[in-house]
Amino acid sequence: MMEEDMKEILYTKEEVAARIRAMGEQLTKDYAGELPMVVGVLRGSFIFMADLVRSIQTPLELDFVAASSYGSWAVSTGKVEMRLDLEKEIMGRHVLLVEDILDTGRTLSKLVEELKKRHPASLKLCVLLDKPERRVTEIEADYVGFTVPDEFVVGCGLDFNQKYRQLPYIGILKPSIYE
Ligand code: 5GP
Ligand code: MG
Repeated sequence: MMEEDMKEILYTKEEVAARIRAMGEQLTKDYAGELPMVVGVLRGSFIFMADLVRSIQTPLELDFVAASSYGSWAVSTGKVEMRLDLEKEIMGRHVLLVEDILDTGRTLSKLVEELKKRHPASLKLCVLLDKPERRVTEIEADYVGFTVPDEFVVGCGLDFNQKYRQLPYIGILKPSIYE
């Protein structure tokens, strides 16, 4: 079982579900009457995004972008590019960018820079996890599910070599798995 590969479970399935529901309630209030464009960053955000939008009670539209970064998680080169673009224009729209984790901040900094050029009415960031200790760019999320320590986590969309994304909890992977 995949659970054997975990050093520790940081947040259980129930804790994650409850936190996402609470975030959805907050977003429902904050975006009431605004028809936000909720933009997920593929692939890591897809599970969080699916749970999040089902907890938002006000009308919204969905789209996705993808970013590619060169180098591995451990040895990031810092070069990030948008690899899949939005289908629709976002000028004048309220955009909520949804990502699995804000780590060094390079990915979201680049995406925010690209999207701001298109003059959205507003652009906010919503992440399931925030790992502030690793930040190298000046960026903070407007909505954060959980703040996590500087450890490699998986589950709820977060992978290691494309695996473990389907785990319904957030776990710290045993270093022996990736070393
Ligand atoms: P950034 O460093 O640009 O903020 O984050 C880039 C990407 O690195 C995230 O979208 C995520 O895919 C990956 N990442 C960062 N920290 C972790 C982690 O602890 N676990 C996993 N699975 N991916 C991570
Ligand atoms: Mg990612």
